[in-house]
Amino acid sequence: MAAYFKQKGDRAKFPGLVNAHSHAFQRVIRGRTEYRSAGGKDSFWTWREMMYSAAARLTPEDIYDASRMAFLEMALSGITAVGEFHYLHHASDGSPYDDPNLLAKQVVRAANEVGLRIALLRVAYARAGFEAEPNPRQSRFIEKDAEPYLKNVGQLRKDLGNENRMAWVGVAPHSVRAVPLDFLKEIVAFANDEKLPVHMHVAEQAAEVSACIKEYGRSPVALLATEGLLNERFTAIHAIHVTSKAIRMLADAHAGVCACPTTERNLGDGIVPADGYFKQGVRISLGTDSQTQIDLLEDARALEYHLRLQKMERAVLTEDTDGSKSALAARLFECATVNGARSINAPVAVPGAEEPADFFTVDLNDASVAGASESDLLSNVVFSLSKTAVKDVVVGGKRIVEDGRHAQQEEIVERFNALQKKLWG
Ligand SMILES: [Zn+2]
Repeated sequence: MAAYFKQKGDRAKFPGLVNAHSHAFQRVIRGRTEYRSAGGKDSFWTWREMMYSAAARLTPEDIYDASRMAFLEMALSGITAVGEFHYLHHASDGSPYDDPNLLAKQVVRAANEVGLRIALLRVAYARAGFEAEPNPRQSRFIEKDAEPYLKNVGQLRKDLGNENRMAWVGVAPHSVRAVPLDFLKEIVAFANDEKLPVHMHVAEQAAEVSACIKEYGRSPVALLATEGLLNERFTAIHAIHVTSKAIRMLADAHAGVCACPTTERNLGDGIVPADGYFKQGVRISLGTDSQTQIDLLEDARALEYHLRLQKMERAVLTEDTDGSKSALAARLFECATVNGARSINAPVAVPGAEEPADFFTVDLNDASVAGASESDLLSNVVFSLSKTAVKDVVVGGKRIVEDGRHAQQEEIVERFNALQKKLWG
């Protein structure tokens, strides 16, 4: 297991965590949706309306401040690279800014300022849904056709620069609900030509699956598979409401899945059938998604824990053939590191590499992991680490967190406090 970390004195060094699915601005609604809204059952869909009402009010500078807050917390928890699924494009009334990538650039600036690498996964969002009336609260997201969308993606790539390893671009057709098939095909063809990552929300909610069957006669995964849109650069976000046949389709296409268990449990989405995916050899990465919690190791352990509760068994995600006591922890740690890096096209911090460029250190005397031995340290970290144990975070050789502190921490928090006051009073 020493391959995953190097121990020196009372510190151990681990490859940086990769957060494959984030909506940074959603940090502003943390703690503000945890109640029953008037008139009935709360769900993902009622939460979404609350999220939209916050999204509509953010200025470009607010988006920068909210994003810096989310990225700061990521850095403090050992995350070194993030895939930002970015769908805020226009001003609040839906009119485009002079630079159609203004808001994307605010998010990139925020990540780089904090010191994180970022894949800006620029979202295509064309409609409210199949046979659905336009929702005015989505007007900041809408680009109706492939042509302006791809033009804006191309311009953003140019502006960030081809060789930029701190910020690069991927494409993100939002979902089968929000992007009609013809548009989707154009995006995937473009991504194939340019070898870009493709991320898409897939089967997060049962209602999304039934609407897709109504429109196309197929489930979202079946639609993507039969239209030839899945490949090894495709990551299906959530992919919860799937059949075993759909899991096989994703496996056959070498597509990946990104699970976001802390968000999925917060929203009542359901449980990612990670056991089914692992059996078929599907790579699972992890995301903090709605930022309810920013702790990727919590997502790693929740991937396993949700299945334990469902099946009333322990160590569900262990491979039958692997007798090693830390094999389960190693598998979950891979989801939080290499699998995420492959999904967003980040440099992979290879476990055991002499000097991984992106890494974090853990204080072995922290109360959450004290007493761990070399053979069970990885299990201690994956199942029990508190963020207080993360001491140094280094990205591309640059130390962005030192002894548990970030140099801009006070200023970022102060600005964020002011933003929250402005938004919520
Ligand atoms: Zn999402």
